Amino acid sequence: MSTLRRILDAQEAVSKVPKVMVRTNRVAALALIVTLECLAGHAWGQAPDSATESARTSARTMGPAESLYLKLRSVGLDSARVYKVREASLQRAALHISLDDGTIAFTEDAGGHITGAFFKGDGELLLFPPNTTERASLALFTGAAILEEKFSTAYFRFNDDVFGELQSTLRPADDAASFAAEWNITAHNLAQEDALRLLYSFSRDLPPADKSTPTDHLLRAYLQGNKLGTFDVRYDSLGAEQIAAGQHKTVAGEDFYNVWVSFPAITRPGAVITDRDADADPTPEVGISQFKIQAGIKPPDSLEAHAEVSITAHKDGGRMLLFELSRLLQVKNVTAGGHPVEFIHNPSIEGSQLARRGNDALAVFLPAPLQAGQKVELSFDYSGSVLSEAANGLLYVGEHGTWYPNLGFAMASFDLQFRYPLGWTLVATGRRAEAQNAGAEQSSRWISDRPVPVAGFNLGKYSQATTHAGKVDVVTYATGTVERGFAGTSTAETKIPDLFRLPGSAGPLGGTFTPERPSPAENGQMVGTISAKALEFYERRFGPFPYSDLAITQFPGTVSQGWPGLIFLSSYAFLSPQQRDRMESDPNQRLIEEQVIAHETAHQWWGDLVTWRGYRDQWIMEALANYSALMLLESRNPAQFRQIMQKYRDDLLTKNRDGMPLMDAGPVTLGLRLSSSRSPSAYNAISYGRGTWLFHMLRTMMRDADRKSAAVRPAKTEDEPFVRALRRLRTEYEGRAVNTAQVMAVFESEMPSSLWYEGRKSLSWFYESWVNGSAVPAFELRGLKFTDKAGATVVTGTILQEHAPDSLVTAIPLSASIAGKNVFLGHIFAEGKETAFRLSAPAGIRKVLLDPEQTLLARGR
Ligand SMILES: [Zn+2]
Repeated sequence: MSTLRRILDAQEAVSKVPKVMVRTNRVAALALIVTLECLAGHAWGQAPDSATESARTSARTMGPAESLYLKLRSVGLDSARVYKVREASLQRAALHISLDDGTIAFTEDAGGHITGAFFKGDGELLLFPPNTTERASLALFTGAAILEEKFSTAYFRFNDDVFGELQSTLRPADDAASFAAEWNITAHNLAQEDALRLLYSFSRDLPPADKSTPTDHLLRAYLQGNKLGTFDVRYDSLGAEQIAAGQHKTVAGEDFYNVWVSFPAITRPGAVITDRDADADPTPEVGISQFKIQAGIKPPDSLEAHAEVSITAHKDGGRMLLFELSRLLQVKNVTAGGHPVEFIHNPSIEGSQLARRGNDALAVFLPAPLQAGQKVELSFDYSGSVLSEAANGLLYVGEHGTWYPNLGFAMASFDLQFRYPLGWTLVATGRRAEAQNAGAEQSSRWISDRPVPVAGFNLGKYSQATTHAGKVDVVTYATGTVERGFAGTSTAETKIPDLFRLPGSAGPLGGTFTPERPSPAENGQMVGTISAKALEFYERRFGPFPYSDLAITQFPGTVSQGWPGLIFLSSYAFLSPQQRDRMESDPNQRLIEEQVIAHETAHQWWGDLVTWRGYRDQWIMEALANYSALMLLESRNPAQFRQIMQKYRDDLLTKNRDGMPLMDAGPVTLGLRLSSSRSPSAYNAISYGRGTWLFHMLRTMMRDADRKSAAVRPAKTEDEPFVRALRRLRTEYEGRAVNTAQVMAVFESEMPSSLWYEGRKSLSWFYESWVNGSAVPAFELRGLKFTDKAGATVVTGTILQEHAPDSLVTAIPLSASIAGKNVFLGHIFAEGKETAFRLSAPAGIRKVLLDPEQTLLARGR
C-alpha cells in the first residue's frame, strides 16, 4: 500500500464527510489523522483563477515537480484536438462508459501526456455494484441498485493513453475552435481535481519524459447526468477499492460528498462482503520507524518545528511520498539524506481557496525512485499558527492530528522535544524523559514507550491531580475555567464555532438559567478517579495498560479523543453530575455523556494499541471502546446499562428529516460513508450504537452457550469467552491494524460449539446477517406445544421474524420460566419469516420466553 493509497483510502471515506462532521463526532478517536478533504468541488462554470496562481509562483524558482503539477492542475482544451466521436466506449472493470454521439476535445499536453478530455453529446454510464451492500448504498442515493445514467456533458481525467484508445472512433470536427473556446474554462477548472494524483503517476520521470508510462491506472469522469445531476465515477488502480462513484450535495448549508458505491475491481463472484476477502496483511510501500521532532511553541498560537523522519521502503516505489501536514503550517525546507529536495504543500492552492480547498497534503520528491529495503532520512522545517487560545491559559491545538508530517497509521517511535515559556504546562504522548528551564523558557522531552500510531501534545496553565490505578499514574491536567462560548456561560465567542454545538441540540443552551462557569480543575480528581477505576477494570480483562502512564488534558469543545497515553478530554466531560444535570435535560443523553471518560480510557487498548485497517473497520474500535465502558457500567448499574442500550436501539429506529429510519443508512462496515446528506448523524447511531449492540450480542450469545456447556462456571466476566477473545485480540494484534474479518476470526476461536451454524465453527452467519446487515428485526414465539416425556418436557413452536431480509440468521436465546426465574434453554437459529423448532426442557415447564434478557438488537414486541 503506497502512501498515496493510504491517502486515497482516507479520501474514499473520511474526507468525503465534511471535517466539521468528523470533528464533532464526540468520541471519534484518531479520526482526524486520516482526514483529508476531498478536492473535488463543483468547478463547473467557475471563473479561472490562474492570475493569483502565476503571481504566487513567480516569486521563487519552480522545481520540475511543481512545474508539472501546476500544468496538470490548469490544463485547458487544445483546439487542435477536437473531434466528432461516435460509438466509442471506455471500460474499466465494472465501469462502462459509452460515448454514443458527440464532440470531444482533448486537453493540452502536460509533461508530454494528454491527461483529459471534455465531451458533449449523448453518452451513457453503466456500473454494476458487486454485492448487496453496495447495491443498497447506490439505491439509497439514486433510487436504483444499478447505475445506468445517460449524460450530456462529461470531463474525463486519466493517466493512460485514452486518446489512443478512442482514436478509431474519432473524426475531424468543423466547429473545433468554438467548441474548445466554449468549454475551456470548465475544463481548466476541473483540471485541478486530480492533479496531485496524476503527478504521482508521472513523478517517476522528472522532468517528465515524453513516452513514460505510469505503472498505475486512473480514469476519473465528472458527468452531467440527465436524471442524477452532476456526479463522478472513478477507476483508480492505487485505491484499495478501485471503483467508486459519488456526488456532492449541500443540505442546510453543510457540504457532503455522498459515496454511492466503492468496491475493489476484482471481487469474488457472489462474495457478500469485499472486506472478508481482503488479503490478510498488505505491506505498505513505505514505513516510518521513527520521528524526532523539536518544536518551539509561542502561546497563544504559533508553533515552529524541525522534524526528522526515518523511512524504510518495503518494496520498490516511486519518487513521490505523500504526507499529511496541516494547511495552517508553512514548510520552509525538506531534505532527504541531508540534501534539499522538492516538495509541494498547500501553498500551491491559492489564497482564498486555501481554507476551503486545502487538503493538508505535503508531497515530497525524492532524487530517485525508492528501492525495496532502502532507508531514507527526511527532515522538515515548518512553522505556523496551529493553536488558539480558547480561554485564558486554555489552548486549543486545532491541528493536533497533523502538526507533524504524518503518513496515517504508521506505527512509529517518537522522540519529541518541546520549548515553551515558563508558566505553561505541556503534556505529550510518551514518557517524560527530561525537563529543563533556561531563562524565560522551559523544555521537555517525551519518548514513546512503544511504537504508536500517532503523537500529540496539549498545553495550558493547568492544575494537576494525580490518581493511581495499580502501577499506573493517571494525571489530570485542567484549568480553572472553561472556554469562551461554553454552553450556558455568558460570553459566547465564536472563535471555534464548530465545536461548541452540544450533541443533539441546535446550539448553546444559554439564557434559561444563571450563567455559571464550571471549573474543570476543581473536578480534576473526580475525572482521574473515574478513569483510574476504568483502567483497572480493563486491565483485569484486556491485559496490562500499554503505556507508562495516562495523562488526561482538558480540551476546549465537545470533542474528546483518546490518544496513546494522552486523552484530550472535552471540557464538558469535566462537569460534575450536578453541573451536568443543569446543562443537559435529556437523562439518556446525560447518561451517555457520563461514559465518555471510560470510553476514552478504553481507546488505550482499542484504537491506540490495536488500530483499525480501513474505513470499513473503524467501527470496531469505536464500538469496542464504547462497549468496554458499558461493561463497566453494567457491572455497577445494570438498569443504566439497559437504558443506554435501549436508547441506541431507539436511535436506529428514529427517522431522519426525509422519513428514513437511521438504520437504513447501512451496515457498520460503511464507516464514515454512513454520514451522508441523507442522514448526517447515521455514523454515530450505527458505528457506536449498532456497533455496541453487535458486541453485546456476541458477548451474551457466547456467554449463554458457554454456560450451557460447562455445568459450573463462575460468573466472573474475566472468564467469559467474549473477554477471552478480547485478550486474544490484544495479544495477537497489539501494535497492528485489524480488519473486521480478523476480529471475527478471533471470536470464532473462542466460540462454543453450540453456536456452530450448519455444523461449521464459523461466525460467517453473524458477519453476513448482523455486522454486514442493517436490520433491526422483530421476533415472536408462536404455537408453543409442551409434551411431557420421561424426565423432560419437549417444547415445539415457531419463531416469527419481521422487519428483516429472509437471509437474516440469528441465534435466538430461549428461556424457560421456572418459579419466576428465567432458565436458559438454548439457542435456536432463526432464518427467514418462520422457523420451527423443537427442544428439550426441564420436566413440567409450561412457559417459554424469547430473549427475556433483551440480548438481541430487536424491536419491542
Ligand atoms: Zn471513541
